Amino acid sequence: MKCSVCGGKVYETDNFCEKCGADLKVQPPLAKKNDDLAIVGFVLAFIFPLVGLILSCISFNKIKKEDLAGKEFALAGIIISAAQLGIGLISSLIGLIGFFEYFIEIIITLVSIFSQV
Ligand SMILES: [Zn+2]
Repeated sequence: MKCSVCGGKVYETDNFCEKCGADLKVQPPLAKKNDDLAIVGFVLAFIFPLVGLILSCISFNKIKKEDLAGKEFALAGIIISAAQLGIGLISSLIGLIGFFEYFIEIIITLVSIFSQV
């Protein structure tokens, strides 16, 4: 058996490492498993914001429930995809306003033509 701190040889019955004095009874906490869905959602947030947002939300809930790692990725995925969706919505609104302005201009032109007759 090896000491988890210094790698020196220790025995199962030892409470402390003879070399470095590390407490052998205290096990280092296991590394939390990363939720792959969080990374997928994060990447998709840039390409398909709607899919990214849904996957990030699912992953975020899963991470909270199962105490997994990758919460930062899920959160970043939610924020980025939401921002992307917001920008998309605003730009399509601006496009729509532009279209209506064009439409109104045509009506005004038509009205002025007919009023001259
Ligand atoms: Zn040691």
